[in-house]
Amino acid sequence: MSRNLDGKTALVTGGSRGIGRAVVEDLCACGANVTFTFVKGESAARELEESCAAAGWSATPVLCDSRDSQAVTSTVEEVVSGHGKLDILVCNAGITRDQYLMMMKEEDFVDVIQTNLVGAFRFAKAACRPMLTAKSGAIVTVSSIAAIFGIAGQTNYCASKGGLVAFTRSMAAELAPKGVRVNAVLPGFIETEMTAKMPRQVKRSAMDRILLRRFGDPAEVAKVISFLVSPDAGYIVGQEIVVDGGLTSAVS
Ligand code: NAP
Repeated sequence: MSRNLDGKTALVTGGSRGIGRAVVEDLCACGANVTFTFVKGESAARELEESCAAAGWSATPVLCDSRDSQAVTSTVEEVVSGHGKLDILVCNAGITRDQYLMMMKEEDFVDVIQTNLVGAFRFAKAACRPMLTAKSGAIVTVSSIAAIFGIAGQTNYCASKGGLVAFTRSMAAELAPKGVRVNAVLPGFIETEMTAKMPRQVKRSAMDRILLRRFGDPAEVAKVISFLVSPDAGYIVGQEIVVDGGLTSAVS
């Protein structure tokens, strides 16, 4: 599989660490020029920029909070004016604010929806204009198996990820006839800072249900995303691709 992205311009949200960082690196390895956003992780973002440069790749960090509509619009405009186009958007930025419903603060529900779902809407809205003009482009949203399962303590997160899948399907219905392919990736448990903070007991019981008996590596998600945005996936549209080591495929 070639996954050739030579000369493509890509924008990845939340690229400073975890899955987003792996996506930045893999898109670069496939030949794309990548811009990625961060909020708090400036030193991680600079370190990624430098390590990519050392490999001969172009990865440019931009401070941009997905909750800030104006910042999102400016970021997309800057990428398009700097590169003359935007070929690829990966809506990856996401957070958790876990709490049981009875104790969940409204701000924690709203913050998760704002970051994970409305943030993706903001980026996709801004990015689809240049893509529609070019009659070409590929968007991938990073949802989660939380869109499939109910998870106690994650009503906010599950709502955001379920919404993201429905949003992605509807985007595909609008944009595919005009040349822009949209798909969602649904990772299971992946080794990042997000899963590092899970209680040991929850991790152990998750591990028992994963057919491969291990958490995934961020690169294993990134390679699927690079494939989905590549010409090799030219006939894949409006799909949810689960990358979960078999967690949702069987009762174990
Ligand atoms: P992570 O290690 O916590 O990294 C999150 C990334 O999102 C960071 O780069 C962070 O930037 C960025 N971010 C957070 N809030 C942001 C905001 N308001 N605006 C812009 N960027 C923001 O998380 P991860 O595990 O890699 O998860 C990445 C995505 O995959 C998320 O959407 C998550 O829901 C999804 N996912 C993860 C798993 C898993 O097991 N890890 C499973 C399913 C789905 P800073 O460094 O600047 O804070």
